[in-house]
Amino acid sequence: MRYISTRGEAPPRDFEGVLLAGLAEDGGLFLPESWPVLTASEWRAMRGLPYPELAARILALFTGGQPGEAVLRPLLAEAYAGFGHPAVCPLVQLDHRVFALELFHGPTLAFKDMAMQALGRLFDVTLARRGERVTIVGATSGDTGSAAIEACRDRAAVDIVILHPEGRTSEVQRRQMTTVTSGNVANLAIDGSFDDCQDLVKAMFADAPFRTEMRLAAVNSINWARVALQIPYYVAAALALGAPEREVAFSVPTGNFGNVLAAWAARRMGLPIAQLIVGSNRNDILVRFLANNDMTARAVEPSLSPSMDIQVSSNFERLLFELLGRDPAATAATMRRFRAEGRMPVPDGAWQAATQIFRGFALDDAGTLEEMGRLFRQGYLADPHTAIGTAAARAVPPVDPAIPIVVAATAHPAKFPDAVRRATGLTPPLPLRLADLYERPERLTRLPSDLRAVEGFVRGHVLRNAA
Ligand SMILES: *Cc1c(COP(=O)(O)O)cnc(C)c1O
Repeated sequence: MRYISTRGEAPPRDFEGVLLAGLAEDGGLFLPESWPVLTASEWRAMRGLPYPELAARILALFTGGQPGEAVLRPLLAEAYAGFGHPAVCPLVQLDHRVFALELFHGPTLAFKDMAMQALGRLFDVTLARRGERVTIVGATSGDTGSAAIEACRDRAAVDIVILHPEGRTSEVQRRQMTTVTSGNVANLAIDGSFDDCQDLVKAMFADAPFRTEMRLAAVNSINWARVALQIPYYVAAALALGAPEREVAFSVPTGNFGNVLAAWAARRMGLPIAQLIVGSNRNDILVRFLANNDMTARAVEPSLSPSMDIQVSSNFERLLFELLGRDPAATAATMRRFRAEGRMPVPDGAWQAATQIFRGFALDDAGTLEEMGRLFRQGYLADPHTAIGTAAARAVPPVDPAIPIVVAATAHPAKFPDAVRRATGLTPPLPLRLADLYERPERLTRLPSDLRAVEGFVRGHVLRNAA
C-alpha cells in the first residue's frame, strides 16, 4: 500500500512513512494511492467481531503488512482494553430511527481516544523496529492535549511535551493532562495565551537544528493513521444495523473534518452509506459550503462546543482532492487561493458531487441547549457536540425514512459539565475510573512565553529520558 500527497509534489510513502511524517513535504495530505474496496461477503465476514479484532482487520488493509495483522491484533486489543465499556464504542438507540455511537469511553472522554490510543502504540512499534525515537510537541487550549498525553504516556520510544496557557484551561482539562506523571510526559504551563503556545510550537518546528536534534514530531488530526483508525467504528455500527444488506446514514459533529472523512472513506470502501450529515455550531463554514458552494473563512467565534470552533477544516483537503478527480495540481491551486483569499473556489461539478453524499446543519448555542434538554427528558444525557449531531439527524430530511441514522457521540457529558448543567440542571458525574481526578497529584512546569526557555526545557526532558 502506497500513499500519495494531495498536492502531488512529494514522493509516495508507505504506511510507516506517512505515520511518522504526518504532513507531506509539499504541504499536502497523504491518501492511499488506491482505495481498498470490499465485497458484500467480505463485510459480512466481519459481523460480530470484537471491536479490536474488527479494527485490526480494517487497519491491516492500509498498512501493507508493515505492521501486519499479527502485530496489529494485540496492539489494538491493548489500546482499547482501558476503555470504560466492554463494547469499546456501544451503539445506543435514541428513537425508532436515531442511534448514538458512543465514541467517548476512552481515558479522556472524547472520540479522539479511539484513534490516539492506537496511534501512540503504532509509533512505539514502528520506532522500535527502526531503532529511532521521537519527541512529540504540541500546544493545546485544553481539549486535545490530554488525548495526546494519554496516547503517549509510558511509550518507550516517545517523549511528549504539551504546552497550555496557564490558567486558561478548565480545571478538568488541566488535571487530565497534569495528573499523568509518567516520566516521558511533560506539561508546560505557559505565561501567555493559546496563540502564544501555538507560536512557540511553530517556532520549535521552524528551528531546523533543534527540530533535527530533538527529532520533533506531531500527532495532529491530519495524520493519515488517525483517519484510518476512525474507519472501523463506522463499519462496526453499519454492520450492527444490517449492512451490507441495509443502508445506514451518519451524522457527525464536525471540526477539522477528520471524523466525517473517515465515514466517507468507509463509504468509498464499499460500505452502503446513504448519507453523511455534517453538524456545525455557529462556525458553519462547511454548512455554507454544502448549502451554496460558499467556502469563505470568517473569524472563529467561541461556542458551547469548543472542539468545533474551527474555520479551516484541515482534512477537507482530502475530500477536495477526491472531488477534483484526484488532480493534485488543481488541489494545490485551490488550497493556495483559499489561503491567499480566504475563499475556496470549488468548481460547481465538484460541489454538486459533494452534495450527493453530504448535507450540512448548523445549530447555535441556544438551539444546542434546547436539544440537550430534549434528549435529557427522553432519558439521554448528551454533551453539546453530540447534541448538535442528534439535532442534525432529526432536522435533515432522510434519503429514505427506513434508513437508520447513527450519530457520532463525540464527547462524554462529564467533559462539558457547565453546558450540561445549564441545559438539564444536572451535574454529570465523572465515570468511576476518573472519579479521583481531583485528588491525584499534578505535575507541571511554569515557563514564560520564551522560545529559548521552552527549547531548553524540551532538551533537558529528552536528555533525561534518554539517559
Ligand atoms: C475533535 C472533536 C470534534 C471534531 O472532530 P473533527 O475530526 O475535527 O471533525 C467533535 N467533537 C468533539 C468532542 C471533539 O473532541
